[in-house]
Amino acid sequence: MLSEFDLIKQYFQRQRPARANTVLGIGDDCALLAPSPGRQLAVSSDMLVEGRHFFAGADPVTLGHKCLAVNLSDLAAMGATPLGFTLALALPAADPAWLEGFSNGLFALADAFDCELVGGDTTKGPLNICITIFGEINPGQALRRDAAQAGDDIWISGTLGDARLALAAYLNELTLAGDDRARASARLHAPAPRVALGRALAEGGLAHAALDISDGLVGDLGHILAASKAGATLDLDALPAGPVLARQPQALRRRFTAAGGDDYELCFTAPAVQRNAILAAGAACATAVTRVGTIDSAPGLRLVDGAGAPLDLQLRGWDHFS
Ligand code: ADP
Ligand code: MG
Repeated sequence: MLSEFDLIKQYFQRQRPARANTVLGIGDDCALLAPSPGRQLAVSSDMLVEGRHFFAGADPVTLGHKCLAVNLSDLAAMGATPLGFTLALALPAADPAWLEGFSNGLFALADAFDCELVGGDTTKGPLNICITIFGEINPGQALRRDAAQAGDDIWISGTLGDARLALAAYLNELTLAGDDRARASARLHAPAPRVALGRALAEGGLAHAALDISDGLVGDLGHILAASKAGATLDLDALPAGPVLARQPQALRRRFTAAGGDDYELCFTAPAVQRNAILAAGAACATAVTRVGTIDSAPGLRLVDGAGAPLDLQLRGWDHFS
């Protein structure tokens, strides 16, 4: 049987030189991080609970990827550069096969983003994974939710809705052909955090406000509107549907792009003068960027079709408690 400390040593403590910003990693009471001089720390936590955020028996490799990806996505949405993260893990049992897969998925993504595991906590209990991530950013450059201005364009990175489409297939709300199901599932299980784009928007001073879309665009954009005391007009037919969703009927396309979930794309607002610079930044990080609406001074969210005609759709974001 693996003891708690064997488990940490074997699966989470890696024998390799720490990155420059990590003064002390796993093994002491605290990790010591050294942000670059003059930079601010950006900190965020995200918890994944079995039966709530993922199905019981979910593949541990993709779980390892996803729990870090959603945290990196929060740094991306502020425009911050990843430094390191901690991992608090409740496990029903010390299962070597599960730990091997989980740590492989986790570290593959951590290495891709040069973001080191610096500490954590391990306990027995129902499967629950909580990561706290640390990043750094120049003072005044963070893409805050309260910074949208009337007249700003609203932009979306990548595509929306394929993750929600995969979930619908799992829940037997609809059926997808084998290939389509696999492609949509990849979006659900392995989101690609838009760290490079977020950094380019913040460091270049290109965008005003941003957030990452986790609970559906309409609900999440509402957070920017509330914080910025503004309204918006959103063109539902301009929303970039994922390649699988793009071949579904219009009503489903509109619903899952506007109010899907688990997209982990960026929604950001920017003045019209930055349009070309934003297209260039998207091209430089190989991430599509699409203009989907405008920020208005009048409060409220107006949904319109491609011709600008109002759409009366009841769409809402995901809420765990309603
Ligand atoms: P403490 O008694 O201070 O809570 P622990 O005995 O829980 O410390 O952990 C010992 C060391 O292992 C600490 O440095 C802690 O950060 C690290 N650690 C514990 N669990 C994990 C984990 N799941 N991933 C990474 N590091 C961990
Ligand atoms: Mg502890």
